Amino acid sequence: MSGQPCVLVVEDEAPQREVLVYNLEAEGYLVQQATSGDAALEMAREDAPDLILLDWMLPEVSGIEVCRRLKSASETRGIPVIMISARSEEVDRVRGLETGADDYVVKPYSVVELMARIRTQLRRVRPASVGEVLEFGDISVNSEEHRVFREGRELHLGPTEFRLLTTFMERPGRVWSRDQLLDRVWGRDIYVDSRTVDVHVGRLRKALRGATGTDDPIRTVRGAGYALG
Ligand code: CA
Repeated sequence: MSGQPCVLVVEDEAPQREVLVYNLEAEGYLVQQATSGDAALEMAREDAPDLILLDWMLPEVSGIEVCRRLKSASETRGIPVIMISARSEEVDRVRGLETGADDYVVKPYSVVELMARIRTQLRRVRPASVGEVLEFGDISVNSEEHRVFREGRELHLGPTEFRLLTTFMERPGRVWSRDQLLDRVWGRDIYVDSRTVDVHVGRLRKALRGATGTDDPIRTVRGAGYALG
């Protein structure tokens, strides 16, 4: 259940929100829901979703303002935002206001088209989730075939180590806390002790070194977590 991209749906009207949630879950995404701008901002900061679908018309803090705040904060700036608006004039305004939204959809939208746009955004931030081959130095991961190579030699990883490596490879240099890795690799619904992360990072390191005796690409960041490169 883990490893799928997580999409945060921000929409105050329940019927519209439910349609989005239904379709996203049918596509295999993990879905979170927020009904207000403030809740969306808090969830974006704390849960780091992979993508945000953001309705323009929200009570209190508008979708535009939410988008502007997301894009002006360093911890949420990298999350793709697709804005949903009721009229095309609104889309023009969103563009004109330079809110930083990554894409726009006008209601009534085609679900097929929206899903395609979501995949386009995720290809950029979660390439493995849409079946791309990931490369980092002499390591390559083919997520569709579940195969890992280092210096051209195939490595055999357990499923948890595979998901860990994929997570690292999608964002080289990013420092992941143990909690973030637990959410991403194990899934947030499962209780796992954070020391388990250390155990599996250790196994992954061993597997990566084992093949060629080459150096350890995973960095331990004291007090923060782990990073690749
Ligand atoms: Ca709304």
